[in-house]
Amino acid sequence: MKIDFKMKNGFHYGVNVENLLAYLTECDLNDITEGEFEVEGETPSGCSGYATVDVTLLADDALDLIKELRKGLKDLVDVFEHTSPDYCMCGTAMEQHTVGGGCGSPTSQQDYHFGEWKRLNSDLLGED
Ligand SMILES: [Zn+2]
Repeated sequence: MKIDFKMKNGFHYGVNVENLLAYLTECDLNDITEGEFEVEGETPSGCSGYATVDVTLLADDALDLIKELRKGLKDLVDVFEHTSPDYCMCGTAMEQHTVGGGCGSPTSQQDYHFGEWKRLNSDLLGED
């Protein structure tokens, strides 16, 4: 496990939230002392090391991550419910672009808004 807790908007354990939760599910409860447990891993420079993880802060991160995922999913559903693959961003039917008409750069409303969603939610998709 990487023990570089890359910070991400208010997260205590950054990109490691899921890995730490997975570790915690298999952790012996006796290994949790005063609300903390240790993980062994690799530092960004490639050395072995240990990091202390606070269970309450990890739960806080997990809750924030669930909220972000729910919002991202809702926004994605909105894109597909409220945009059309049949109309261009210019307002012309996509069909009319194929016969030489339209704005010259046909992009369906749905393609455009889905692209925007992907750009804004790259964190949720695990893309940096
Ligand atoms: Zn157009």
